[in-house]
Amino acid sequence: MMVGDSAWMPKPIDAGGIGPALIAGTIIGNNVVQAIEQNDVSEKNLWQYNLDFIKEYGYKTAGLELFRRLVQTLTNEQISYGMKHFLGNLDVESISKGEHPDFSGLGKIGMIIRGIMNKTVAEGLKYTSGKNQWLVEHYYNYPKDPSGFEEWSKSLHKTLDESFVKIESFRS
Ligand SMILES: Cc1cc2nc3c(=O)[nH]c(=O)nc-3n(C[C@H](O)[C@H](O)[C@H](O)COP(=O)(O)OP(=O)(O)OC[C@H]3O[C@@H](n4cnc5c(N)ncnc54)[C@H](O)[C@@H]3O)c2cc1C
Repeated sequence: MMVGDSAWMPKPIDAGGIGPALIAGTIIGNNVVQAIEQNDVSEKNLWQYNLDFIKEYGYKTAGLELFRRLVQTLTNEQISYGMKHFLGNLDVESISKGEHPDFSGLGKIGMIIRGIMNKTVAEGLKYTSGKNQWLVEHYYNYPKDPSGFEEWSKSLHKTLDESFVKIESFRS
């Protein structure tokens, strides 16, 4: 079983890894004690650790990886523009809490801004926001036991691979 940095748990957007290491450390401790008490340390019986960690923390990591990749395609000017025009107080709050900002209002705002200014930034933010919703949902549907993992993982990586290619297309 893995926990913390060795399990790729830090937030992609800022590499903060103390929080997830502590959260997962607590969860893994509970899970392992239960398994030992049940005298069943099989993968199947330890699987609950995955579900508990995703529920507490892990559901957001993949979406933040997309957001990180998008930010890395932007120039300093575009980041400044995005900060000024797209990020509301709630978005800044969610980023500081380690969440993907919610750009759901960008549909309407984007319509107005698109013609005027930075189309690529608006499109990129809207794209990662939409994919983030899918990823969070997918993580909440994490298989309840090891047998469903392969199919779940295939679907995840298909979406991630497509998203990485799409995000690169926003690079100016
Ligand atoms: C410069 C820097 C600044 C950071 N700033 C922040 C921050 O502001 N906020 C934040 O949230 N995160 C920050 N992080 C990340 C954070 O420190 C890590 O994500 C977190 O410490 C990971 O905890 P961990 O227990 O998984 O691993 P670690 O803290 O790396 O613990 C692993 C331990 O295992 C030991 N070890 C390795 N190999 C063996 C072995 N073979 N046998 C026995 N022991 C072994 C190591 O010596 C180490 O003590 C920062 C990291 C760095 C490098």
